[in-house]
Amino acid sequence: MHSGKTTDLVQEIYNLERVGKNVGLYKPRVDTKGGNTIVSQLGYARECDGVIERLRDWLPEMRTKDYVFVDEAQFMPARDIDMLAQLGVETTVICYGIRCDGFQNPWKGSARLLQIADRLEEFESYCEVCGGKASRNTRFINGVLQTAGQQDCIENFDDISYKCVCTKCWFELKKSSSKSA
Ligand SMILES: [Zn+2]
Repeated sequence: MHSGKTTDLVQEIYNLERVGKNVGLYKPRVDTKGGNTIVSQLGYARECDGVIERLRDWLPEMRTKDYVFVDEAQFMPARDIDMLAQLGVETTVICYGIRCDGFQNPWKGSARLLQIADRLEEFESYCEVCGGKASRNTRFINGVLQTAGQQDCIENFDDISYKCVCTKCWFELKKSSSKSA
């Protein structure tokens, strides 16, 4: 989303480890970008302590941490978010994720987080068309705005790209792409 979310995540972990906190960073298996390392747009990187396939396999280790960070939490099933909420009774759990997919539909993990998280914090990003506050992550294939399609990342499919835009620009892009279709 170009919001500085990953830069913030890496910085937070750095700050906590500097003062001696035992921090664990995890992400779900479905996200294949960058292997086991999380890399921000500014180039800050942090190796994951675990890539989650079955969350319950990681819970004993997570319980030993002072802080558990989960990146790309939008990809997790709702039941995993519920398990993380339960873990949050014993230790501090902080999830990072994107609210909606490229078609403004909520990701399963994000929908559950919005429902049950004790505290929500939004990272703002700027519209790549007008520079206003962006609220929509949109998918383009061969330069054409997509308003429906498969929710998952399909990186090898044609020329796929994502842009953050504001609601006003989204409607304008939608109007012009339906005219050119
Ligand atoms: Zn805009």
